[in-house]
Amino acid sequence: MKELEQRIRQEGAILSDKVLKVDSFLNHQVDTELALATGREFAKVFAGEKITKVLTIEASGIQFAMAAGIALGVPFVYAKKKKAVTQSDNVYTATVQSFTRGETYQVTVDQRYLGVDDKVLIVDDFLATGAALVGLVDIVRQSGAELVGVGCIIEKSFQEGRGLLEEKGVKIHSLARITSMKPGEVHFAEEEQSEHKLSIKERV
Ligand code: 5GP
Repeated sequence: MKELEQRIRQEGAILSDKVLKVDSFLNHQVDTELALATGREFAKVFAGEKITKVLTIEASGIQFAMAAGIALGVPFVYAKKKKAVTQSDNVYTATVQSFTRGETYQVTVDQRYLGVDDKVLIVDDFLATGAALVGLVDIVRQSGAELVGVGCIIEKSFQEGRGLLEEKGVKIHSLARITSMKPGEVHFAEEEQSEHKLSIKERV
């Protein structure tokens, strides 16, 4: 998605060769128009799949799952990281190790909101180590629902996430695929094909 790549170049801050900060438009302050556009893009890519539900994980997947849900005309569900007193005991659970926070937590989804009749699209902001998405794939499998695919806003293709998901036979569509980065420089998948390299300003 060209508009997204452009925003990453203009506003992204590359904190290291593994961490990209995009909190001015994606995951702290959110550009609502851009978020809605990502939802329309996923709806186009997965058109005809008869998706019944979008699944994500709190917190930064929520705005994108909502955008995809709006575009597809279906509800979205988000996996919770902490069990609330209001939550039922009948939940699907998976263990996830956080890439940015270094913590391990149990994520849960109430069994009432995902079941054998569902066709699910998983959406998240980043695909990095794949831990969060592998956890969500596990939850979909526990529910007996059909997994249509995974939609990521930003994929860091040089990390192991894509490989882990592909090993599980999951179809992945990422709106921006970063093949490498370092402070001051980012390379996207399509650019590599055309051997065209672009740099972004270092902003830390
Ligand atoms: P995972 O390593 O499980 O694929 O990524 C888990 C979560 O870590 C993502 O959903 C995202 O919220 C966060 N994350 C991973 N890599 C980055 C990054 O480079 N920048 C930011 N801001 N968040 C990231």
